[in-house]
Amino acid sequence: MGKISWIIVLFVSLFVAHPASMPTMAETGVEDVIHLRTRKTRTGFELYVKNNGPGIVTATLRFARLRNVTVQQKLPIIHPLTPNRLVCLATLTVTDSSLETEFDPRLTWEWGTALPQHDDEYSYSLPFRRGLQFRVSQAFNGFFSHHGRYAIDFDMPEGTRVLCARSGTVVHVESHHKIGGPERKLTELGNFVTILHADGSVGHYAHFKEDGVTVRENQKVKVGDDLGISGNTGFTAGPHLHFEVLKLIDGQRYTTIPIRFKTHLGISETLKPRRFYRHPE
Ligand SMILES: [Zn+2]
Repeated sequence: MGKISWIIVLFVSLFVAHPASMPTMAETGVEDVIHLRTRKTRTGFELYVKNNGPGIVTATLRFARLRNVTVQQKLPIIHPLTPNRLVCLATLTVTDSSLETEFDPRLTWEWGTALPQHDDEYSYSLPFRRGLQFRVSQAFNGFFSHHGRYAIDFDMPEGTRVLCARSGTVVHVESHHKIGGPERKLTELGNFVTILHADGSVGHYAHFKEDGVTVRENQKVKVGDDLGISGNTGFTAGPHLHFEVLKLIDGQRYTTIPIRFKTHLGISETLKPRRFYRHPE
């Protein structure tokens, strides 16, 4: 009977570097969301994962060490996980049962899925109260901090109510930061709300005022629901709301998606910089 030693290391990977305080998941309790279990079989081991979170995530499994054991799947294993289902991610076959076997799984995960295609027809609601209008200070590919990003900045004074632009589940909230300014090093100090949509894309609302977020993680939200009040925290050139929608591209990195909004012109349109847009409803 071979001796078995294995180590399970769980860690949470970060979103890609982001100019507008994209959330990092480091402080989210990974054990609360994804459970990894190992089961001994006649020929080796099976590694199971279960998503205990409120919405779909994509797990990525790698191995830092494999001794006297072969993984049957192609590595890395990237797999979407719907909540509450136990999924066998990896099957390991022991090569020689008389020798010591060692394996060291490294599991990371992110909210959402790599979509085959985002619904480009989806028309987002403007994320503020009806009747109000705000200027777009930076749109897609904006020169200040949106280079290479499909993101929108609404130029709004601190304390403006921020509303949900698309229904989903709140998966990450940050609300304790105080300061902001036009320095990249402040990127991590922004307050934000991240909402997971039904199609696996993620809406990101940034720069909320300190203690200005009124929703909590795991809360379901609908279009028009109050998310909190805008502010000027993180990497900003002044008070505004940053909004963007992202999808996973390989299980670990996100990319922004071009989106359109319902505006006062009665159409679904791509917002342009320096123009005012009024909430039509
Ligand atoms: Zn922005």
